[in-house]
Amino acid sequence: MTEEQRMGGAEQRAGHVGTLYVVATPIGNLEDITYRAVRILSEVDLVAAEDTRHSRKLFARFGIKKPLVSYHDHNEQQRQSMLVKRLQAGEDIALISDAGTPCIADPGYRLIASCHAVGIPVVPIPGPSALITALSAAGVNTDRFAFEGYLPQRAKARADLLRKLNGEQRTLIFYEAPHRLAATLIDLVDILGGERQLVVARELTKLHEEFFRGTVAEAVTRFEQEPARGELVLILPPSTQGPQMNVRDALRKLLNESDLSRREAVKLIAKEYGLPSSDVYRVSLSLTEEEAIDE
Ligand code: SAM
Repeated sequence: MTEEQRMGGAEQRAGHVGTLYVVATPIGNLEDITYRAVRILSEVDLVAAEDTRHSRKLFARFGIKKPLVSYHDHNEQQRQSMLVKRLQAGEDIALISDAGTPCIADPGYRLIASCHAVGIPVVPIPGPSALITALSAAGVNTDRFAFEGYLPQRAKARADLLRKLNGEQRTLIFYEAPHRLAATLIDLVDILGGERQLVVARELTKLHEEFFRGTVAEAVTRFEQEPARGELVLILPPSTQGPQMNVRDALRKLLNESDLSRREAVKLIAKEYGLPSSDVYRVSLSLTEEEAIDE
C-alpha cells in the first residue's frame, strides 16, 4: 500500500467525501512545524483556525496561501454544520489551533465527533503539544501521568479538585495562566503540601524557556520575588509520602488537640509546610469564622 492509499483525503483524492486533518502547529518556535503539516496546510481547500489573524502569521512564514475560517469556543456549533457540509461535498479541511495540538485544552472535539458520526475520515497530523514537551524534559517519572488541563478559576472548585487529587499516584500536569500562579501555588501548598516536588515549565521552545525545579514552597518564594511571565505548564510527580493533610486540617487538629495558642500553632504549621506565617495566619482566621475557635 502506498502512502497515498494509506492516508486518504488530500493525499488520495479518490473518495466522494473530503477529509478532516487535525494539524498540530508550533507552541512558540516556528521551526517545530513538521514537513507534513506544511504540506497538508498547503494542499487542503480550507483551514479552520481558532484565531485567523494569528494563523495568518504562521501561513506567511511558510508561504501557505489557503482560505481561513474561524472555529472557536464561541462559534463552534454554527461553524460545525458548515464545515461538515463542505467535507461531505468533497472538500478537504484542516483544523488548527493557535498553538500546539487541536483539542488539547483547545476547541475541536465536537467537530471531530460529528465527522466520525457521518463517516468523514479524520486524519491526525501530529506535532507539538505543551504538556508532552514539558514532560519530556521535566526529569520526573513519566510512566503514568494525568493531564488535568486548567485548574478551575473559582477558589472553592480549585481546592475541591486538588483535594480529590491528593494521594494520586500518577504524575500530575496542569496548564496555568501566569496571573493565577501565585494563588494556585498557595492552594498546592495547602492541599498537597509544601514539600511536594514541582516543575514549572515556562515559555517552552521560546527565547525565555525555563524549567523551575524545586518544592512547591520554594516555588512560592521564587515566584513571589519574580512573578512568572509567559506560558506555563505545572508538573507534580507523585508524593513519596502518601496523601498530605492540608494546612487547614493540620491547624485545626493542632488547635483542638493541644494547648498551643493560635500564634504558636501558626508558627509550627508554617515551619512544617514551608509557608510564610502570614499565609497560615490567614488560614487560621478562616478557621475561626467557620468553627468559632477561641482566640
Ligand atoms: N493545544 C495546546 C497544546 O497542545 O499544548 C494548548 C492550548 S492551551 C489554550 C494554552 C496553554 O498551553 C497555555 O496557557 C500554557 O499553559 C500551555 N502552553 C502553550 N504553549 C506553551 C509554551 N510555549 N510554554 C509553556 N506552556 C505552554
